[in-house]
Amino acid sequence: MDLKKFVTIVEDWPKPGIKFKDITTLMDNGEAYRYATDRIVDYAKQRNIDIVVGPEARGFIIGCPVAYSLGVGFAPVRKEGKLPRETVKVNYGLEYGSDVLTIHKDAIKPGQRVLITDDLLATGGTIDATIKLVEQLGGVVAGIAFLIELTYLDGRNKLDGYDILTLMEY
Ligand code: AMP
Repeated sequence: MDLKKFVTIVEDWPKPGIKFKDITTLMDNGEAYRYATDRIVDYAKQRNIDIVVGPEARGFIIGCPVAYSLGVGFAPVRKEGKLPRETVKVNYGLEYGSDVLTIHKDAIKPGQRVLITDDLLATGGTIDATIKLVEQLGGVVAGIAFLIELTYLDGRNKLDGYDILTLMEY
């Protein structure tokens, strides 16, 4: 299936010069959403995944159906102040300033094999921070899956040494 047919490119959003890849038109098509999910599930099955981890909010949309299909759990990574119990946190750089991502301290057990999911690999900053959270808890990043990779931003370089699947490239 040509998944790109289901991605809507929105010019100059959220600001001039950005070509926003809107995946809601992929998700609202049952066949396309299932096809994309199944491809990530196939990838995960070869990597003995114990738990799926994804950053809010689009990482949930990709990761939760994959976790369900694998029969493993899903642990959310959220912005600071959103998770109710003890967390570990990491600062990460944004285009302007920085932000903090958190995960519950007991979400991952040492040695667990983790699949990280998100919608899109741009600079790699979000997933680099997510990897740091997983590794702080002793998890092993066994794979990272995205729907989309913006190859011109070279995020893959930032994630050097990790096993990455992307279903579409721009
Ligand atoms: P990054 O940390 O730079 O890899 O990107 C973080 C997040 O920003 C991605 O997971 C996307 O949700 C979002 N993002 C960045 N660039 C785009 C884009 N051109 N279209 C849609 N989402 C984007």
